[in-house]
Amino acid sequence: MDFEFSPDQQQFINDVRAFLAEEARKPYAKEVMSPEREADSMLADSPERREFNKQLAKKRYLGMSWPLEYGGQAKEGIYEYLVNEELASVGAPLIGKGVGCVGKTLIRHGSEKHKTEFLPQILNAEIEFCLGYSEPGAGSDLASLKLKAEKIDGGWKVNGQKIYNTSAHFADWYWLAARTDFDVPKHKGISLFLIPMNSPGITVREIKTMGDHRTNEVFFDDVFVPDDALVGELNKGWVYICEALDYERFTLYTVGPIQKKFDVFIDMIKHETRDGQPLKDDPYVRKIVAQLATDLETCVMLQRRVIAAACKGGVPTVEAAMCKLYSTQLGQRLANAALDILGPSSILHEGVEHAPCHGKWEHSLRATALDTIGGGTSEVQKNIIARRGLELPLAM
Ligand SMILES: Cc1cc2nc3c(=O)[nH]c(=O)nc-3n(C[C@H](O)[C@H](O)[C@H](O)COP(=O)(O)OP(=O)(O)OC[C@H]3O[C@@H](n4cnc5c(N)ncnc54)[C@H](O)[C@@H]3O)c2cc1C
Repeated sequence: MDFEFSPDQQQFINDVRAFLAEEARKPYAKEVMSPEREADSMLADSPERREFNKQLAKKRYLGMSWPLEYGGQAKEGIYEYLVNEELASVGAPLIGKGVGCVGKTLIRHGSEKHKTEFLPQILNAEIEFCLGYSEPGAGSDLASLKLKAEKIDGGWKVNGQKIYNTSAHFADWYWLAARTDFDVPKHKGISLFLIPMNSPGITVREIKTMGDHRTNEVFFDDVFVPDDALVGELNKGWVYICEALDYERFTLYTVGPIQKKFDVFIDMIKHETRDGQPLKDDPYVRKIVAQLATDLETCVMLQRRVIAAACKGGVPTVEAAMCKLYSTQLGQRLANAALDILGPSSILHEGVEHAPCHGKWEHSLRATALDTIGGGTSEVQKNIIARRGLELPLAM
């Protein structure tokens, strides 16, 4: 049993760290690297962010697991995970959905036109995508989506609504799931399309989340989509969406940010006082800290199990569900513990006078709640563990 990375992987981690240390010295660093922020999606689009992504591209950190013929390096997926872990640890934007979901699906199923048009742009960090899956009434049960693409001459007419489409307000292209057949079982009538975000008839409206980051609802009003915007085969969208989730298992859940947050938590315990007494001397506080340190170690091990299983060529669905469930709930427990320890004033927001730790933990509690929802809620993860891991029957 070996819990360490191989010498080659460790060398790679060192190289990425050296690259990030160099980036951190650039004038734009504070715009793109903020270890204090709660989620990748909170980093808005900016020229600095796009420039940073270009540097990632130059270092060839994008598309490392893609085949050589498409400009990749045919490396194991773990290298993409390692880059993301380091990016997450310094609060930099993660390798996007372009490389993972969009790029890998196009490589397997896309037309030559799509491959030629999009793959080089993704590798060079020239475009941003928005994933258009969720709808009001179709989130956990995504296959129930109703946004309608109706066949017309030369293309499709799209009508309906999406919700929680995170980068819709700045993305260049929409990776859109639409219903193309209402007369077959729901999983079999979905297709994927790649369409420009500025297509006439698309309206994007802001939704502000409890974690203070922006997401969007998007309305489609007779949007024309040409025939060649269809990704792969008609009505195969569900298969592609599920496959893409499998590709992403490596990179979805990083533990670096929780580790960093725990360091901040420990620092707080070591230096803050309550009622004039150092927190570090309080037996109740020490018990909480010891428990959280143990939980964090469990979280790291669950993450390593996902990587180990995927490295052996498996699809670690159950391991990834356990890791997602545990790590996102740990993020909540950590924030909750900080609020308990800091006392009633801990609920003061950032910017309010006397807000302990500048309101960090109050914000963290709100922001980490979103992590337990996005990418599949905690209940959905438990269903996966019960059904696929424990082979229990479907809940009635
Ligand atoms: C920060 C963030 C970013 C997101 N980004 C995107 C994006 O870019 N693109 C996109 O398409 N979507 C995105 N989403 C949407 C996300 O995928 C959905 O919110 C999520 O899948 C849950 O769906 P829902 O909100 O419709 O809730 P629902 O599915 O309606 O769930 C409501 C409640 O019921 C529970 N529940 C549902 N089904 C079951 C069940 N079978 N058993 C037990 N309990 C159940 C859920 O756990 C939840 O507590 C994002 C969400 C968040 C929070």
